[in-house]
Amino acid sequence: MPVTAVVGATWGDEGKGKITDALAASANIVVRFQGGRNAGHTIINDRGRFALHLLPSGVFTPDTINILGPGVAVDLAALFAELDELLAAGVPAPDLRVAHRAQIVLPVHVLQDQYEEERLGAERAFGSTRAGIAPFYGDKYMKIGVQAGDLLDEAWLRERVTRCLTARNVLFRHLYQQPEADVDTIVAGLLAHAQRLEPMLCDGPALLHERLAAGETILAEGQLGALRDPDHGIYPYSSSSSPLAGFIPVGAGVPAASVTDVVAVAKAYSSCVGAGPFVTEWFGDQAQQLRQRGGDRGEYGATTGRPRRVGPFDGVATRYGCRLQGATRVALTNLDVLSYLPEIPVCCAYRVDGQQTQQLPLTRYLEKAEPVLDQRPGWQGQDLTGARSWQDLPDAAKGYVDFVEALIDVPVQMISVGPHRDALIYRD
Ligand code: GDP
Repeated sequence: MPVTAVVGATWGDEGKGKITDALAASANIVVRFQGGRNAGHTIINDRGRFALHLLPSGVFTPDTINILGPGVAVDLAALFAELDELLAAGVPAPDLRVAHRAQIVLPVHVLQDQYEEERLGAERAFGSTRAGIAPFYGDKYMKIGVQAGDLLDEAWLRERVTRCLTARNVLFRHLYQQPEADVDTIVAGLLAHAQRLEPMLCDGPALLHERLAAGETILAEGQLGALRDPDHGIYPYSSSSSPLAGFIPVGAGVPAASVTDVVAVAKAYSSCVGAGPFVTEWFGDQAQQLRQRGGDRGEYGATTGRPRRVGPFDGVATRYGCRLQGATRVALTNLDVLSYLPEIPVCCAYRVDGQQTQQLPLTRYLEKAEPVLDQRPGWQGQDLTGARSWQDLPDAAKGYVDFVEALIDVPVQMISVGPHRDALIYRD
């Protein structure tokens, strides 16, 4: 049985949560393989509206096993708060497992993220979500991180935390002029979560191998989008872990050859949170019109509440992102949002220094790229939210999907026409 990947084709916030939620219904296991609480998936189902940050989207499907793989940045306080919120809303306790090799986000990672953004100032800051993700992954690759399983051995844990603080406290005191972090306080904070964590700990990859061999279905849920990949994305406006399907074998722990079905999720327009070049960006009233209509409550970040930058569909960035993901099919979301426009612009190429290109250039060229737009006919005033089959869509909407499909060169197999779970069209 193959592993199905649900991953972002662009900057993140593409609507992966909804697509994963829809596909999770037929999966035995949903596994997260990278990132942490720095992104948010919005899921709207019969139990209400939920913004998931760390929990896999399979938590609403009874009998689904949800795993945080070794590649995830696990913030225990945030994880348990999210879980409690779900339980308080009446969702039955999900089967949640944490890979014992997954690493733990420490309070010092969050502090350093904040201190560094403040030190950089508004002009130079990266627009971090300040969830500690960059310092966390920095420590992991510096080999001074703390693994989830370490919480079961106090002496070992203390040694790991001490190592993690040695150089950091020099930075805290001298670069940021902040108080040093205290080993005892951090260890006590971690141990306070150990009892609740212990029954969830498992060898995630071993479990996945076993279940794959038994023919079970696995869904690997990505966070953020391809353009945030540290190696291939818009560096340095990238994230610190790879959101690519190619990272699933590493971050979840499944055989590389098992990831054969890659669903890249893309919005029918563009949206982006944070700093960095965003070629098709709209401003002023034009942006506000789209922002207000986007998503289920307007385009505001699920984690930070920040207004998202919005603009027309970017065919250059999305084709590049789909290729990075190795997409075998695309889920196009938020098509309903465009119903207010008489004509819909689509970016088919960039103009950089007077030259037209369809390739995504290096960041320093992307900063000055201008979009080459094609105007597509709209379906103004026709509500798409009730459409449940390809035939239900107006001709202009079908034409728009076909145009996008030709541009990105991957079959658009799912079309989302509203925030709710049911507002989804499967196309043969
Ligand atoms: P994710 O991080 O990729 O899961 O995306 P987010 O949840 O941050 O953002 C997607 C937004 O779009 C959320 O507000 C969803 O409820 C909403 N959404 C998803 N699909 C659709 C759709 O087809 N139409 C509309 N109007 N909203 C959608």
